[in-house]
Amino acid sequence: MNTAAKLCWMFVLTLPLLLVGQAAEAGQSNPVNTASASSNPASSATPKRPLQVVASFSILGDWVAQVGGDYVAVKTLIGANQDAHAFQPRPRDVQTIAAADLVVLNGLGFEGWSERLIHSANYQGAVVVASRGIQPLTPVDGAHHHHHHGADHDGDKHGEGEGEGDDPHAWHDPANAAIYVANIRDALIARDPANGDAYRNRAANYLQQLAETTAWAKGQFARLPANQRRAITNHDAFQYLARAFDLRFESPAGWSTESQPSARNIARLIQQMRQQQVHALFLENISDPRMVQQLAKEGGGTLGGKLYSDALDAPGTAAATYLGMMRSNVDTLLRGLTATP
Ligand SMILES: [Zn+2]
Repeated sequence: MNTAAKLCWMFVLTLPLLLVGQAAEAGQSNPVNTASASSNPASSATPKRPLQVVASFSILGDWVAQVGGDYVAVKTLIGANQDAHAFQPRPRDVQTIAAADLVVLNGLGFEGWSERLIHSANYQGAVVVASRGIQPLTPVDGAHHHHHHGADHDGDKHGEGEGEGDDPHAWHDPANAAIYVANIRDALIARDPANGDAYRNRAANYLQQLAETTAWAKGQFARLPANQRRAITNHDAFQYLARAFDLRFESPAGWSTESQPSARNIARLIQQMRQQQVHALFLENISDPRMVQQLAKEGGGTLGGKLYSDALDAPGTAAATYLGMMRSNVDTLLRGLTATP
């Protein structure tokens, strides 16, 4: 046996020990980052564990699963129907991050907790910000800017709970979704080049489905008359969707569900509903319905069903995937916007 063959055998023999060691660490309360065996291209000859990917919330988790297939094991910190704005990392999330090969975040200020969590887990591995490269909406771009008709509102853009910085809900524009998916694909290939072709093929197939769903959605919204394109939701999660499909969304809360809507915002919305004939209000899967119910009652609007804003629906339901969520939101919006008050 020559030297190269001996080294090869040593690697094959030690690999299972490395994997057992990693699994044991993942189950203990002492997170230690380990060099990932799966990142070594030489391990492709042996049956290896799937790439361990942690996604911050359910929509990213779906994209990782769609692109990664059986080559990845994806864990999602903020699950179906959960409010990401109110998320507080739990001790088990530290374990989850510590055992990861790759962490996928939305960015745009959506995961304010992520830096501390990654630090607590002593995670040294790759972190991909999946929204990288998208053009974020800022307060001046959003619809917030259009609804001030009087001069008395000048200069008060901050301090109404709208938050600073960029609007994080970029996933609702399908053009952005394509960028997210491409970023996730590239991150998987970088961590697991041996399966690069599989990731490329799966991503290409998914992007084709995304394009078809987007074309369908555009066709659906094209049927809407100009005076039936205004909607109200609890928090301001749909400005990217509004821009993509020429709709107008208003909300009593800002970009985060954490901020309490001010009395002035609520009064302004009720006045708007009466004056501008905004009748369609929608509940969200992650938000308390009471505010929107009250608005509908006082402003004379109609509740038009439930939109998926910041989380997918439970596994096995129609909106358990991003594409399913999109179809569901388009259907719900069309039904609610065209309903006669
Ligand atoms: Zn949100």
